Amino acid sequence: MKFATKAIHEGVHPDPTTGAIMTPIYQTSTYVQDGVGNHKGYEYSRTLNPTRHALEKNLAAIENGKYGACFGSGLAAIDCVIKMLNPGDEVISTNDLYGGSYRIFKTIFEKYGIKFHFVNMQDPANVKALINENTKIIWVETPTNPMMNIIDIEAMAHLSKSCGAMLCVDNTFATPFLQSPLDLGADIVMHSVTKYLGGHSDVVMGALVTSDDAIAQEMYRIQNSSGAVTAPMDSFLVLRGIKTLHLRMERHCENGEKIAHFLLAHPKVDKVYWPGFPSHPNHDVAKKQMRGFGGMISFTLKGNLLEDALAIVKNMHLFALAESLGGVESLVGHPATMTHASIPKEVRELSGVVDSLIRLSVGVEDVEDLIEDLSQALA
Ligand SMILES: *Cc1c(COP(=O)(O)O)cnc(C)c1O
Repeated sequence: MKFATKAIHEGVHPDPTTGAIMTPIYQTSTYVQDGVGNHKGYEYSRTLNPTRHALEKNLAAIENGKYGACFGSGLAAIDCVIKMLNPGDEVISTNDLYGGSYRIFKTIFEKYGIKFHFVNMQDPANVKALINENTKIIWVETPTNPMMNIIDIEAMAHLSKSCGAMLCVDNTFATPFLQSPLDLGADIVMHSVTKYLGGHSDVVMGALVTSDDAIAQEMYRIQNSSGAVTAPMDSFLVLRGIKTLHLRMERHCENGEKIAHFLLAHPKVDKVYWPGFPSHPNHDVAKKQMRGFGGMISFTLKGNLLEDALAIVKNMHLFALAESLGGVESLVGHPATMTHASIPKEVRELSGVVDSLIRLSVGVEDVEDLIEDLSQALA
């Protein structure tokens, strides 16, 4: 089955009691049993709930995996993966990781004796140099936020297999419509469903997908034991969101491409970070592993002045100033004062987060209106 058909049909079946085409919101904590141990597959909603179950099957299908699990947030999904480890185990990750992922690694799991390394993964040799007998996870995020760096998933899979570690890919930015990490050798795909999968800025949720039976067993054991599950109502909203994922992503990509080119040609703009440009340092890898380049774009201003960036962001009207990304509405963010404000200036500038860097999550509005808004704000 092709992607669009899977997105709409996988995991969902007409309700057997009424024929309702939409999976009902099973707002229930428990399920009546005919006799002890004689139930219909559902016993208690932390363990399994029919609405969540439909979504988990749908997510597994669109990621070309066998098993899906949903969590209360993207970070709760990450929490589940790291809980598969033991004290003394080591994780190798990227040096421009999503801030929240960095925080849970460093401030929660390091004190339980798990060691984290952060390197520039654009060069696989940097990862290879850190591999030892304790390496248990290689954690990849691609494209990265906000610099839009691309990491070669196949190269990372080669390294993880060489040392028996699991490769986990945070596929939040690309979505399964643009990138299929499991097909490229990853063991686990992780999502902040909050972003493109939900797609309407109305749900916070996370997900994991794997095809490995042993990993799945651990994943479900931790999901049930730690209990960071997602609610039936939220599962329903995301099931609805995913039905248009392919349509939304096509428009995000189309609008993103036009806006990236508009910015590149603008006299006040210095650099534009978007993996679709042949001049992007990892364009070849992006072309190899992605089916499109998405709607996330970052750019800097000539002169690199903080006040210029703040004035532009303030003068944008259609692009709303907000954290998050991936919704139908366009958003703008200023990493140096928002997402990356807690990182010292010298440190953040090393990875490219300079004072004038502006990040756009290009929505699915009419692109002419978006360009007009950018145009007047830059003026
Ligand atoms: C938002 C985000 C997360 C965290 O997800 P939440 O749903 O906010 O907990 C993780 N990774 C990436 C790339 C993100 O953008």
